[in-house]
Amino acid sequence: MAMEVRRRVPPRGRSSGGDGERERVRVQAGDALPLPIRHTNLIFSALFAVSLAYLMRRWREKIRSSTPLHVVGLAEIVAICGLVASLIYLLSFFGIAFVQSVVSNSDDEEDFLIDSRSRGGAHAQGPPAPAPCALLGNPAAAPEKMPEEDEEIVAAVVAGKIPSYVLETRLGDCRRAAGIRREALRRITGREMDGLPLDGFDYASILGQCCELPVGYVQLPVGVAGPLLLDGRRLYVPMATTEGCLVASTNRGCKAIAESGGASSVVLRDGMTRAPAVRFPSARRAAELKGFLEDPANFDTLAVVFNRSSRFARLQGVKCAMAGRNLYVRFCCSTGDAMGMNMVSKGVQNVLDYLQDDFPDMDVISISGNFCSDKKSAAVNWIDGRGKSVVCEAIIKEDVVKKVLKTNVQSLVELNVIKNLAGSAVAGALGGFNAHASNIVAAIFIATGQDPAQNVESSQCITMLEAVNDGKDLHISVTMPSIEVGTVGGGTQLASQSACLDLLGVKGANRESPGSNARLLAAVVAGAVLAAELSLISAQAAGHLVQSHMKYNRSSKDMSKAAS
Ligand code: ADP
Repeated sequence: MAMEVRRRVPPRGRSSGGDGERERVRVQAGDALPLPIRHTNLIFSALFAVSLAYLMRRWREKIRSSTPLHVVGLAEIVAICGLVASLIYLLSFFGIAFVQSVVSNSDDEEDFLIDSRSRGGAHAQGPPAPAPCALLGNPAAAPEKMPEEDEEIVAAVVAGKIPSYVLETRLGDCRRAAGIRREALRRITGREMDGLPLDGFDYASILGQCCELPVGYVQLPVGVAGPLLLDGRRLYVPMATTEGCLVASTNRGCKAIAESGGASSVVLRDGMTRAPAVRFPSARRAAELKGFLEDPANFDTLAVVFNRSSRFARLQGVKCAMAGRNLYVRFCCSTGDAMGMNMVSKGVQNVLDYLQDDFPDMDVISISGNFCSDKKSAAVNWIDGRGKSVVCEAIIKEDVVKKVLKTNVQSLVELNVIKNLAGSAVAGALGGFNAHASNIVAAIFIATGQDPAQNVESSQCITMLEAVNDGKDLHISVTMPSIEVGTVGGGTQLASQSACLDLLGVKGANRESPGSNARLLAAVVAGAVLAAELSLISAQAAGHLVQSHMKYNRSSKDMSKAAS
């Protein structure tokens, strides 16, 4: 059995391994045999038996006829040769297997791993047999030799003896923990993950904050659009994306804005929300709490309780909604430069604890009751706002519309009404009265360490286009009521994301005026959306969209070559 495993060669063309995998399969001495090993064994066993039987019969005849044993004929010489040859073969074949099974603990790494498959982890300290898929598609040899100690941990993780999530705490070395987890994953799945880099990332920086159970990191290109002339600043906007054309298009919009004198923005509101769901025995009791919370006379008390847990969280308002005997209380507070979800949640918990004394029949169902509304498309954010509510506008000059955007004001205004307003109304859009705001929001969010899932509400946007100055120039605006961004906390502190924030001059907390970094970042998001809306609507008005996508978004490379 062991020998059979040693001879196993992955079937040709199996996709999971590829060429690299086949290279790693060790060439065994038996591979040189002209026949399959089973047939060779059979032939030598038969030769051994036939030679032995013939020689025994001949010797018995010689003893009976008193012929000296050393007098041998040609047939006997052939039989002796056959016997010796088959004996050497059989001894070396089965004998080596036996010796190996005894001394294999001292074998080199690769032998050890290959044999362990057939023995089902016979080594007390060695890794157990990998899953069947690994057996079929992937030799379990490690791509690079790990220290013996790490090998043991990998084996224990594969066997389920050590939970993968405790590695960072147990080892106290985040890079080592990620490497061990990844190797265990490779052995369990039989997938190499060659394209997913492991080195070159600070795993300690994500511990307990950004990502659990890391096995590598995904690389994304970051492009830069700009300068975006916004409120007198010249800004270069980092965008992490794999969508061809997006940065180029935003860049063109920036150019049109800059050549027209720049854009300006205004932040209308700045407040993060959290709405717990509480239940009462009756709707009447729920309404009593609603009355208490919405009574302006009680606001100061609530604010003192709410604000206790943070220097930056300041209660701005409370809005309630009811569904039967369930009450949804939407707390809104400023959060400084943080996006603010943790901050607002702590304040809400303070208030719930406080209310429990006067409303002991209040049953807190959840700290988040979806009236917040986080990472879901919801009218409450569209109407009341969440995070930063920003309007950004610019007047694009007639000649810039012609020269840079290759269209005219009338076509742009008409297209915007038919597409972004009427078209979206026909589609039943909720805050989706724009061409592609989410493209820009997602790209900036990823580059600057925001929560990409909040792209859902942060991309709510209505784009307005009007002809001004006697119909010659174009007034364009984007109104975005719920841009949820921060410059401290979460992914913003990671090296790459932090560098992108630094490029914009909004890295970290603003000490002189807490909250202004985050508000400027929200304005940049809106400004970049303004530029990208302008460019895309122009491309569609001029009928250029398909051509530019064919140029930037469709690779002319031979992908089959790239794959190989
Ligand atoms: P979030 O509430 O967005 O999840 P975190 O709670 O993770 O953010 O991060 C905010 C942390 O940063 C808080 O501990 C807060 O005290 C601290 N902090 C320091 N300076 C500022 C600032 N200017 N604005 C907001 N938070 C700040």
